[in-house]
Amino acid sequence: MLERLMVGIIGATGVVGQNYIKLLRNHPWFQVTDVAASSRSAGKTYKEAVRNKWQISTNIPENIKNLIVRDVYDIDSLDPQIKFVFSAISLPNKEVVKELEFNYARKGIPVISNNSAHRWTPDVPMIIPEINPDHINVIPIQQQNRGFSKGFVAVKPNCSIQSFMAPIYSLQKAGYKVNKLIVSTLQAVSGAGYPGVASLDMIDNIVPFIEGEEEKSEFEPLKILGSIGDKGIINNDSIKISATCTRVPVLDGHTACVNIKFQDKRPSKDEIIDIWRSFRAIPQELSLPYAPEQPIIYLDNENRPQPKKDRDNDKGMAVTVGRLRKDQVFDYKFVALSHNTIRGAAGGAILNAELLLKKGFI
Ligand code: NAP
Repeated sequence: MLERLMVGIIGATGVVGQNYIKLLRNHPWFQVTDVAASSRSAGKTYKEAVRNKWQISTNIPENIKNLIVRDVYDIDSLDPQIKFVFSAISLPNKEVVKELEFNYARKGIPVISNNSAHRWTPDVPMIIPEINPDHINVIPIQQQNRGFSKGFVAVKPNCSIQSFMAPIYSLQKAGYKVNKLIVSTLQAVSGAGYPGVASLDMIDNIVPFIEGEEEKSEFEPLKILGSIGDKGIINNDSIKISATCTRVPVLDGHTACVNIKFQDKRPSKDEIIDIWRSFRAIPQELSLPYAPEQPIIYLDNENRPQPKKDRDNDKGMAVTVGRLRKDQVFDYKFVALSHNTIRGAAGGAILNAELLLKKGFI
């Protein structure tokens, strides 16, 4: 591919939006030429709009600094050469987000979203490319249902489930059916966006509640493991998940402590580790630029994974797992970690876009 496709970011000034700017800086297939945000930022240069809230340790790329921020609602002024947009907007009213993302799709612009608004829309695929890449085939159903020509909405799931979904799915794929899961998450502050949780609530503290997060952790996996029906995705309810989600004073990287029970046959500990280490899927087969070489890294050291040391493994796109051991109540327990703003947000969505491009949907 010689020419990079021109892409936009709606919600470009927030934590996830900034991560897109960083991750797409040298992307071989995509270049950011449009940035959009609220009316507070619209009309300013990108540099001015993020002046007091740039969270990335490297400088704003030169080609982005002086882009004029567009109002996300002003779809008509979008450059017609833009092939698709990443959505990283955050609004309190999910119905408004749904309508906005569908309005882009109606105008012929594919939307690849981090927002949770459309995760439960049955004809919108919710994709982790290593697990359910075939769900992109629901897009023609969505386009037909809604009269879209070439636009569509595709979403990625919540950041809280990224660390344990690939380990569980790889076991299912190897023939070991997990039917019960208890998960306790320790989620980083960047997951709350900017400005996020007040420092007085977060320093020297753990907050044992994140609104909506436990429901997302318990139910989104059922759609991801589901199948395509006539009208959209049919959920798979053969796995029961109980989640407790907490916010901890870590900058980036969501950790999950996971207990699993198998429905019938149970692999040995060595088999599980082999399954995890050898797991490869479509993104690796297609050599997608943002695919991690090894999607699940298992560490033998008993004090790993740790957010500070392991969140950036393989560009922040690998899930790092450790501490696999027997469980006295269920069968096994382990600790898993994934980078919330990379694999759990911007990086995961970039991988979705790469898959959609390679499969001819963009
Ligand atoms: P954020 O830092 O709060 O950024 C929100 C973005 O939305 C900003 O660009 C903001 O523009 C824009 N926005 C806010 N109010 C708006 C309005 N009334 N009209 C139009 N645009 C508006 O949030 P974030 O953490 O980047 O999260 C973005 C989305 O990704 C959310 O849906 C979040 O749930 C999801 N997500 C986040 C993470 C994570 O780790 N942070 C992970 C997975 C998914 P202004 O700067 O102009 O206000």
